[in-house]
Amino acid sequence: MTAPAPQVEDLNPHHIARKQFDLAAPFVGNLDDWDGISEWIFTPERTVTVYIPVVMDNGDVRVFRGFRVLHNDTRGPGKGGIRFHPQTDEDEVKALATWMSWKCAVVDIPFGGAKGGVECDPRALSVEEKRKITRRFIASLGDNIGPHTDIPAPDVYTDAQTMAWIYDTYSMMHPGQNNLAVVTGKPLDIGGIPGRSDATARGALMVTEHFLQIGGLPGQRDLQGTTVAIQGFGNAGRFAATLFRDSGATIVAVSDSRGGVYDPDGLDLAAVCAHKDETGSVVGAPNTQALEPKEVLEVPCHILIPAALENQITAENADRINCRLVVEAANGPVTPAADRILAERDIKVLPDILANAGGVVVSYFEWVQNLDNAQWEEHEVHEKLRRKMYRATEHVMTQRVNLAESFEYYQNRWSDLYPGSEPLVTPDMRIAAYTLAIERVRRAAEQRGVWP
Ligand code: GLU
Repeated sequence: MTAPAPQVEDLNPHHIARKQFDLAAPFVGNLDDWDGISEWIFTPERTVTVYIPVVMDNGDVRVFRGFRVLHNDTRGPGKGGIRFHPQTDEDEVKALATWMSWKCAVVDIPFGGAKGGVECDPRALSVEEKRKITRRFIASLGDNIGPHTDIPAPDVYTDAQTMAWIYDTYSMMHPGQNNLAVVTGKPLDIGGIPGRSDATARGALMVTEHFLQIGGLPGQRDLQGTTVAIQGFGNAGRFAATLFRDSGATIVAVSDSRGGVYDPDGLDLAAVCAHKDETGSVVGAPNTQALEPKEVLEVPCHILIPAALENQITAENADRINCRLVVEAANGPVTPAADRILAERDIKVLPDILANAGGVVVSYFEWVQNLDNAQWEEHEVHEKLRRKMYRATEHVMTQRVNLAESFEYYQNRWSDLYPGSEPLVTPDMRIAAYTLAIERVRRAAEQRGVWP
């Protein structure tokens, strides 16, 4: 007899987004009339693919593929970043757009979900090449984006400079009107808002602190004395390192795409940052132990913050994760199979659609600021962000408790309605956040009705 082949996990991000939706859906509203509505709510409204010709620095013309997906605009215009990455594709962008719909609903801001991506390797591009790709991408998207329809922002390997080019390109195409609200994450000189650059990390810190304050991790009421490991040293990871350290945590490991560094007594972050700025990587920072890129996920710590890409904690490594709490600063870093393993091991997960929502919340403030022709102060941004993130954390925690208390009811109803189907999974923080979000989108959809 041969041993059964190990089950290979499906890592297609859009399939994962569907799986997460399906795990949560049975806990939402009336199961009986759920079917048709769930298809309506899950299916993206619009997927645009464009091919972007660019004259490279060496004179060659190269064609890049770009995507913009509007997942759902029931609760307001589409909102979501644009990423530049060699592995991005339509299914990834569809998943990221879907997650944006749930994220905006969980923190209750009046946006739907959208996302964009250009398949390119920004590390191998000059500034001039990135500028041309950005401008041509935005020109090709035309009126698929707009201040009241679909509003881009930064994501992986794009930044305030990229947003400035987006704004300028859109403005050249729409002269004679104030276009500042077409994109968020802009530089301060062009309608940007103070506090946007570290907003994702600050939001993650606020969610974590509040989760601890209200008893999410028994025996640990704040960050004092905790150890933290962070995967990813881009916008979210790098700011998270400083903010968590300044709130009392010891950062024991950080990594970027080339590898990681570890010091069980705590890294000297100033030295690690200086090394990253000088060499392009954290690897080799003075007085640190080197780690392979994914080893950072397995170092012993209290809090693990994946702040890079999707599918980092999977069925393959979930049993080696060595922390009490995972805070998803990235989008989609933990797969559904890993969620199950972590839950069995009593490792809690603060899901991306809550934990990293600080970025889009401050984007919302920037959009409001631009539409009002106003200027916000940084302390106002922090205070308003705190209120949003605390409230959302409380809602998700309460929802989890409520669902867990009624679990037997849902289980019975589920097996009555769909005999023989997979049993329901005990609601964790992800399922709680999803049910809140889906319920809000569904309510809006029902109130609006299907046109005509
Ligand atoms: N790209 C960020 C995210 O995934 C921010 C999106 C935004 O600000 O619109 O949440």
